[in-house]
Amino acid sequence: MYNRSLFIKNLMYKKFKINVSEINLNTNLTLLKEHHSWLKDLNSQSLQQANRNLLTGFKNFFEGRGSYPTKKRKKNNNYSFQVPQNYQINLTSSKIYLPKIGWIKIVLHRDFLDKEFIENNLVTKGVNGEVILDQKLNRKFNILKTLTVSRTSAGRYHISLLIDDHVPEPKLVEFDSETTVGIDVGIKSFAVLSTGEVIENPKFLKKSLMKLKKLQRNVSKKQKGSKNRKKAIVKLAKQHQLINNQRNDFQHKVTIRIIRENQAVAVENLNVKGLIKNHKLAQAISDVGWSEFIRKLIYKAEWYGKTILRIGRFDASSKICNVCGYKKDDLTLKIREWECPDCKTFHDRDLNASINIKKIALNNLSTAGTAGRACGLMNISSGNEARSLSVFS
Ligand SMILES: [Zn+2]
Repeated sequence: MYNRSLFIKNLMYKKFKINVSEINLNTNLTLLKEHHSWLKDLNSQSLQQANRNLLTGFKNFFEGRGSYPTKKRKKNNNYSFQVPQNYQINLTSSKIYLPKIGWIKIVLHRDFLDKEFIENNLVTKGVNGEVILDQKLNRKFNILKTLTVSRTSAGRYHISLLIDDHVPEPKLVEFDSETTVGIDVGIKSFAVLSTGEVIENPKFLKKSLMKLKKLQRNVSKKQKGSKNRKKAIVKLAKQHQLINNQRNDFQHKVTIRIIRENQAVAVENLNVKGLIKNHKLAQAISDVGWSEFIRKLIYKAEWYGKTILRIGRFDASSKICNVCGYKKDDLTLKIREWECPDCKTFHDRDLNASINIKKIALNNLSTAGTAGRACGLMNISSGNEARSLSVFS
């Protein structure tokens, strides 16, 4: 549906300079059903949602937030569809009802509905002693949003449900030097905090990565197109999934703790794409999933009214002595520890960097004034970004 609508939009604009609207696309869907009756077996709202997603893609492109919409390809293994309305979930016996599909057994991995919502029957009803969430009951309170069904490359199906819990955004918590922490992305360890705490990469992740390499070799050894190769590919996909889950779990635990323990967090804006081009660092950086870690940190800060201070990318955070300000220009990536020639302080490279990140972030903030404090997320440009990668040469 998405690809078909994209084709129509592109064609109509190219030939007739006509901007096809969502209503036009949905009308076209009705006509399509006459020609392809199998489309009638699918939930119309899910098909219409594909049109809506496409137009959102165009809107994002024209407003400078994304690239021009392109065809979705089967090989990308990114399958999903959305159900905006008329779904039900049996919370007692773990089943879900999807229009045109019917009831299916599911595993509910956590309570997602506020107890109060259930107690007051806001979106649930009791049927034969079982609690059933019904999207149709939603009209008054607007709690339940779109439901998405997706399939991973390992062939597992997930359902996610967007919920508006009607809890207002928290007020921003005040912070100062005492309650701010700086974090440096570690290369040997996962991260180093300005408090001196070192967060190690979890051991299970290393083990899983080693197994991944073995499974990758297994795939390449098997003959192309053979049954055994297909089996090996499925095993590999499952291992990827396991690593993804393990990494996510680890990142959730670390980010929530950092956000709870501090009122503000200072981090460096890393050019992850630039780093990955450097092969020695590629494994290390992509393994730790730094940008995903920052993303989790940012949205959790929003939940609790905490502030994320972001400083520009530059080489100074590791090269400057955090005690006296001496700049060690000949510090290469290989040097993990160094003594300041000026004040004789002995530095662990990453710890020194994390202390500097915190100092620079707070410093820039006091020079920039407190006007930006209300936004909760600040990008403080350092002005010398051109030298950002010299640390890694
Ligand atoms: Zn010094």
